[in-house]
Amino acid sequence: MKFDPASKIQDLLQFGEFGDVNPSITDSATYTFFEAKTMTDTFHGEQEGCFLYSRHWNPSNKYLSDALAAMEGTPAAWVTGSGMAAITCTVLQLCNSGSHIVSSLTTYGGTFAFLANYLKKFQIEVSFVDITDLEQVEKAIRPNTAMVYTESMTNPLLQISDLPALAAICHKKEVKLIVDNTFTPMQIAPYSLGADVVVYSLTKFVNGKNDCLAGAICASEEFIESLADVNTGTAMLMGPVLDPLRSSAILKNMHTLHIRMKQHSSNASYLAHKLYESGIKVIYPGLPSHPQHELMKKLMHPDFGFGGMIAIDLGNSEMASKFMELMQREGVGYLAVSLGYFKTLFSNPGKSTSSEVPEDVQKEMGLSDGLIRFSVGLDNDISRSWTKMQLCFEKLNLK
Ligand code: PLP
Repeated sequence: MKFDPASKIQDLLQFGEFGDVNPSITDSATYTFFEAKTMTDTFHGEQEGCFLYSRHWNPSNKYLSDALAAMEGTPAAWVTGSGMAAITCTVLQLCNSGSHIVSSLTTYGGTFAFLANYLKKFQIEVSFVDITDLEQVEKAIRPNTAMVYTESMTNPLLQISDLPALAAICHKKEVKLIVDNTFTPMQIAPYSLGADVVVYSLTKFVNGKNDCLAGAICASEEFIESLADVNTGTAMLMGPVLDPLRSSAILKNMHTLHIRMKQHSSNASYLAHKLYESGIKVIYPGLPSHPQHELMKKLMHPDFGFGGMIAIDLGNSEMASKFMELMQREGVGYLAVSLGYFKTLFSNPGKSTSSEVPEDVQKEMGLSDGLIRFSVGLDNDISRSWTKMQLCFEKLNLK
């Protein structure tokens, strides 16, 4: 069956307590029971449909989780207070002291820092690989490897992970494939392509308003239950719960995600082609010059395009800084980290979101000092942005 994330969200029937068209918002940390036995049974996971305490489950977060599971095509999902909480809970749930992880060298800087630095205290070793080199991935797997970790579209170099091929390697070797799909909601469906767990920073495209942080873990019922286990669940015991007021807002924003993703993609595609035609070094999976362009076409849902992210290389960070400052003054967008906002955002990853990655590793992964990452906004007329960008290039004698 064709993967149809937008219709899956549209088909949800989620009402409020009084037939409200939006589900009621949970405004309680704890829940009352008529009978003490029901409370005990709920505590032991033997009572369906009851809520005990909001760090465990709460109705607002359950509604959002159900919508995310529907979008991703997973049996279940869990929401967290940030994307990093989703990533760290997933990794810690699946690893023990002494485990080994194979990870894409190109990942979000916070994830890289967690894997490379933080996990050392649990004697968890991480081998960083070029995720586009399948032979290298397979060779890196050891008997104690718990998972292969990657991003569908990597941050910030926009490489595309060959998820079906990675899943085949993982499942042959009996290791889990964990995929961060933050850059490509609706465009890529990692679970249907073989991933075991899909993690998200909802802070980005899924919420799309840059007004809060949130994360999600989409997976099997068994894995989500393990995260919520009152005795051993990482999410339950670490407690990075999402505020129900926020989750109800994110749920409403999910209903416009399909329209936004199409607009982000068509605007990014317009700019990427203009940049390419002007001779600027540009990375965009929608360009035939992108090394994984054909793979992206194979993996993606065609309705939602090649995504809203572009990277250009201006050679050095001084030029990148000048260009970004000028673009902000000319009104192209904001010089800010993060992505998935309705305005265009741009930043220099080497000096910001990937600055956790040591300089020699940045070089190894091909991350240039002069790289500017764009999250292209929802502009109604993106040609205006292109005109402004051209002016910036001219002012800096870049064309
Ligand atoms: N994953 C990716 C790909 C990201 O870009 C980010 C943040 O930039 C995160 C995860 C972390 O998400 P959060 O900031 O919501 O914790």
